[in-house]
Amino acid sequence: MKPGGRCDAILLSSMRLVSPFLKHAVYPALQQIGWLDHIMPPCGYAVVNYHGVVPSDHSVAEVFLDGNLVQPEMFRRQLQFLKAHYHVIDPEDFRAWIERGKQLPPRAVLITCDDGLLNTLTDMLPMLKSENVPCLFFVTGASCSDQPGMLWYEELYDLMRARPLDGLGLQLPAEEAAEPSHSFQAQWWSVVRRASRLDAGARTDWMDRARSHCDGTNVFRHEIHSEKRWRLMNIAELKKLAEAGMTIGAHTLSHPVLSLCNVEEARHEIQESKNELERALGRQVWAFAYPFGNSSTMGEREVALAQEAGFTCAFLNVEHWRAGPANPFALPRIHVATDTTLPEFAAHLSGLHARLQRAVS
Ligand SMILES: [Zn+2]
Repeated sequence: MKPGGRCDAILLSSMRLVSPFLKHAVYPALQQIGWLDHIMPPCGYAVVNYHGVVPSDHSVAEVFLDGNLVQPEMFRRQLQFLKAHYHVIDPEDFRAWIERGKQLPPRAVLITCDDGLLNTLTDMLPMLKSENVPCLFFVTGASCSDQPGMLWYEELYDLMRARPLDGLGLQLPAEEAAEPSHSFQAQWWSVVRRASRLDAGARTDWMDRARSHCDGTNVFRHEIHSEKRWRLMNIAELKKLAEAGMTIGAHTLSHPVLSLCNVEEARHEIQESKNELERALGRQVWAFAYPFGNSSTMGEREVALAQEAGFTCAFLNVEHWRAGPANPFALPRIHVATDTTLPEFAAHLSGLHARLQRAVS
């Protein structure tokens, strides 16, 4: 999901007009003649970002939330495409490039994956291993516990689907300059934004009340939905991922919209996710990814806080950030979604798509 502010909305609507034509006509034609293979990614490297794959025991029913997951066969094809046309680099080489200026190979690509859903261990990792490619996984502080549960905003989506929140919504801080929300998704995102203004403890208490409110009507149950799809990895599972040679980065403690937290809470979410993961894993955690990762959910304050926390670098979830020199604490990434076709993937990797986006904006 890519919620956006007014500027994002204008840009997105402009791109929406041209995107189907690019996706279904221009990019396939360019890929077929091999033209995309001759364009270098911006800065000479690219970073791709996943949110997991659709696990074998899950059938996609809610396209809005599941749109961030990639079908396994497409994931394998994308890995094979990267191996054939790019140099997939180890996250540690990316770190050495940032910290010491160690040279990257030409057409370098770093693979990343956010959130730490269980399917990243059960379904993604076997494919990464069989294709022999490394990945940098960004997980939340929840994965340092034995019972991490779900991402709170995904659970909230399910709760709100099951039953309107009624007066519970009134218990949340108000949105400044709120516009009326018409679609269900817009209403849900408004609640996510308002709940992000609570500190993590108060948000947990509010979610408990929301669960009780919807008790008996909640459509989410592990028995009827895939646990691999919804549950976050616990600490034992996270250690398995690390022991398999994967690199672990931090993604805050509780995945709020950081820009809506007060500064102490935002600092705590960023700094303590590093500390907790380092304690749990016994290794240094040097990379950070901003939750949601676009200009309507984080800004310069969060960039400064990530730097202050002692990370080497921090990643966005968008392909372009504000103009200016490259900033290691605002590194762009290519967001891969369920409906990303292979030619589209190739066009994003080459940097062509971002150039066109800039031209439209
Ligand atoms: Zn995330």
